[in-house]
Amino acid sequence: MIANTCSNCGRRRAIVYQDHTRRRLCGECFLEDLRSRALMEVRRWRMVSPGDVIAMGLSGGKDSFLLLDVMVEIHEPSKLVGVSIIEGIPGYNRGDHVAALKKYASSLGVDVIVTSIRDYVGLTLYEIVSKSRSRGATHSPCTYCGISRRRILNAIAREIGASKTATAHNLDDEAQTAIINMLRGDIIGLLRQHPLAPPASSLVLPRIKPIRKIYEREAAAYAFIRKIPMQDTECMFISQSPTLRSRIREKLLELESRMPGSLLNLMEALDTLLERKAVSLKVEELPRCSKCGEPTSHNRRICKLCEILEDAGIKPLYAKTATYHV
Ligand code: SF4
Ligand code: ZN
Ligand code: ZN
Repeated sequence: MIANTCSNCGRRRAIVYQDHTRRRLCGECFLEDLRSRALMEVRRWRMVSPGDVIAMGLSGGKDSFLLLDVMVEIHEPSKLVGVSIIEGIPGYNRGDHVAALKKYASSLGVDVIVTSIRDYVGLTLYEIVSKSRSRGATHSPCTYCGISRRRILNAIAREIGASKTATAHNLDDEAQTAIINMLRGDIIGLLRQHPLAPPASSLVLPRIKPIRKIYEREAAAYAFIRKIPMQDTECMFISQSPTLRSRIREKLLELESRMPGSLLNLMEALDTLLERKAVSLKVEELPRCSKCGEPTSHNRRICKLCEILEDAGIKPLYAKTATYHV
């Protein structure tokens, strides 16, 4: 935060330095810049159609408040449903954070379904990780967490009759995923990241990412300026057994601090380069997991979630929304 006159309006005091544009902005101009860039991205790729019912994954972090603000600007609040999934990690994403999120969403006219990994799988994430470690399985907590949350959001969206899901992935998340896909040689994964790519299966709803061109640091500044109630605790698993993603995150932050704007340039270049190939991808009829019936890849008998839970010696419930509380 810095003191000076706003480079945009020239009237108010600048409080944010926007590295990638080298502008000093006042709070109002900064918020307007974020809002208009996110809306431009939504319109550019026609992410939202008038008849859509959209289930939004809302973690309660800064990104989910920004996603909510953007979505109510572009779509009727009655056609938006928030889905907040409590992981079940001691001290993290507690009931009071979810209550603040629900209150904020409700002030915008958006209902939020609150559920948890325990509702769906039968155990909290902490219990899953403990079981997994006691069995000597080496999957990282983030693998259990990410795959479960993705599954739950899609399952709830299908059950409530939504036409799309929306997630609050920001530019940093997307750039990390793109690099991971490239390092793994996963061309299809890279193409599926494109906003025009169809979903991998008819059982997976199309997923939109409206804030995919907003830096994580900008979402943090947004939360600060808007005085959004943020949780002050970090997930206890974040610093344990660094994942490939966390190492790439560190490298990309270093690169971005030396060359501001590089992550944005990377994603813009990929969007342009991959557009034609991404559009030509087909919705595949993937084989169904022999345990849970969800889609799995061609070379797998059971899906990734069933596989990692099996490695941890867990028999999942895979409960329907009847057990969820709104
Ligand atoms: Fe889940 Fe990993 Fe994030 Fe913790 S750090 S909330 S385990 S994805
Ligand atoms: Zn200004
Ligand atoms: Zn399965």
